[in-house]
Amino acid sequence: MEEQETQNVIQQIDPYLITPKAFHLEMPLYHALDLSIGMVAEKVFEHIAHSATMDAYCIWCDKESVFDAEEYVYGKTYSTWKREDFGFRRNSYKCTRNNDHKYYMYFFRGKDILLKIGQWPSVADFQIPQAEKYRKIIGEEEYKEFTRGIGLAAHGVGIGSFVYLRRVFENLIEEAHVLAQNETGFDQDKYQKGRMDKKIEMLKNHLPEFLVENKILYSILSKGIHELTENECLQYFETVKIGIEQILDEKIIQKEKADKAIKAREAIQKAHGQIAKPK
Ligand SMILES: [Zn+2]
Repeated sequence: MEEQETQNVIQQIDPYLITPKAFHLEMPLYHALDLSIGMVAEKVFEHIAHSATMDAYCIWCDKESVFDAEEYVYGKTYSTWKREDFGFRRNSYKCTRNNDHKYYMYFFRGKDILLKIGQWPSVADFQIPQAEKYRKIIGEEEYKEFTRGIGLAAHGVGIGSFVYLRRVFENLIEEAHVLAQNETGFDQDKYQKGRMDKKIEMLKNHLPEFLVENKILYSILSKGIHELTENECLQYFETVKIGIEQILDEKIIQKEKADKAIKAREAIQKAHGQIAKPK
């Protein structure tokens, strides 16, 4: 299989296997990886034995940094690892800007299973500072719910984390609804009775483009709450979270643009006023 094709298959099997960063830093605790699937086992080995650098956010530097693999270099071959390397393993990475900045992860390996059983700083410690930038755009209450979702997923609570993300999503829709309902021609009755995809269609002028294009995000969230297992929700958590962040990023850009336009307009008016004054 071609490299890209392999990556696509892996992405479908488990998004946390895609990069050393996803595996080490984003995978929630107790998320189970089935080593009886050859491709999964090979990827797990690749990450477990990963002894190179990875780019990641450093919570102490408070910005993106390069992390270098620590500990001993993993000397065993894939087949030896597969056959006999059971039990616990610790991996750690240090920030290349300051070697005291370290991330630790603990894994447990059974015959056909690998679990991440510990991480310090936690997934939430690592992700919440990165969510901070959304605080202003979604407000204090929503920000709390968003980070609670992140925190729950980090501790292996899949379905519960989806509930919080869905609330964030629904609030974005409601915000747009409040704006749209005052417009002439808005059919309130049709809106109330419509399913979420119809609602999004009706509100599309008030919603970030990414949300309108990816309205299936909502059905993934709802399906998660009603039909998916804990482990399936954890498996898709990062994907859904990135979708929501993409929507929020777009809102931030829109707001910055609008704020800049207001300032520019005022400055132009002022300049014009001064120039127009008789000398
Ligand atoms: Zn650092």
